Amino acid sequence: MSCAAQSRIHARIDASAIAHNLARLRSLLALHSAIVPRVWAVCKADAYGHGLALSLPGMAAADGLAVMDVASAAACRELGWRKPILLLGSPANMAELQDSGLSPLHVVIDDESQLDELARQGPGDLTLWLRFSGDLRHAGFSAHAYRRGFERATRLQQTGIVQQVGHLLHYARAEEPEYLRAERASFEALVAGLPGPRCTENSAALLSDPEYAGSTAWVRSGIALYGISPLAGITGEHLGLKPAMTLFADIHAIQQVPAGSPLGYGGAFVAEHDLRIALVHCGYADGYPRQPGPDACVLIAGQECAVVGRVSMDTVAIDVTAHPAAQRGTTVTLWGDAALPVERIAASAGTIAAQLCTGLTARVPRLRAHGPLPEAQTQ
Ligand SMILES: *Cc1c(COP(=O)(O)O)cnc(C)c1O
Repeated sequence: MSCAAQSRIHARIDASAIAHNLARLRSLLALHSAIVPRVWAVCKADAYGHGLALSLPGMAAADGLAVMDVASAAACRELGWRKPILLLGSPANMAELQDSGLSPLHVVIDDESQLDELARQGPGDLTLWLRFSGDLRHAGFSAHAYRRGFERATRLQQTGIVQQVGHLLHYARAEEPEYLRAERASFEALVAGLPGPRCTENSAALLSDPEYAGSTAWVRSGIALYGISPLAGITGEHLGLKPAMTLFADIHAIQQVPAGSPLGYGGAFVAEHDLRIALVHCGYADGYPRQPGPDACVLIAGQECAVVGRVSMDTVAIDVTAHPAAQRGTTVTLWGDAALPVERIAASAGTIAAQLCTGLTARVPRLRAHGPLPEAQTQ
């Protein structure tokens, strides 16, 4: 399909890939436990940069959505989501949560002052998840304060102020099996003997060691739903996942660069021999990495072509010397193909795929990919 009629750069968002990835995670979980935990589809940061509205149809079969703030929860409700929503960010204002339009709402609790505020508000239908700060220590109760917080929360449940209270942990080192086991063990010790459901597993944890998820009520998956591997050295494709975002741009010019000539700002690249160079309007102002690494490439008609010279605000230069068919108007894939996963671009640029996807800027249109759409089933 020619994308020449589209804008100079665009990201295609494939909701059916998200639906596929969700089903894939569920079948992996089902292999390891009789009771498959429920799945929070994490769609914070505008669905990891994919765009909430384009992504939600692919999440229709999830049990709930997880977002950072109340405004995002309201956006999900406006898009027709009726199942539970989990607020991962610690809301400062608990009164906002009583809006019946947001219900059923679950909220992560990080501090006793949030419980105080709920107690003052009286009966409601929130479900609380107490967060153990763990080794991450970005938010939540310390091991020392956790049990006291849990007892307070349980009293709120007994008096009908909240519906249920569960235990939540977010790992600091889920990609490293040894540390993952240690983090799980300290959480186990913390909640031993306490009633209430548990929710600990993110994508990396449930993909690397799915068995533990069976002891939890809910898992929280973000990155894997978008088809991206969170595990170093393992691609999404290897995990049975499909990329939900593909970034395209069209060649807008071809330049002949004679041997010995510089190309790009700073003269950082000098042609060793005569080169035929294709230029696309995709730069760091779109979120493409400014230093994509020595082995960075794009795909043109399925062939890898090297990125050369410094990436500028608006332009990437590509060596098409060996690809005479590449010309003005030819579509280039920058990332998000099984043959060129965003994980690979991220690794060569010294970052992670989540940063590239969420860092795609507002000037890059997100467009719905063609192909069968999953059934809109949000109820
Ligand atoms: C972002 C986030 C997740 C999702 O993590 P992935 O690695 O993308 O699966 C889960 N839990 C919390 C608390 C988060 O902030």
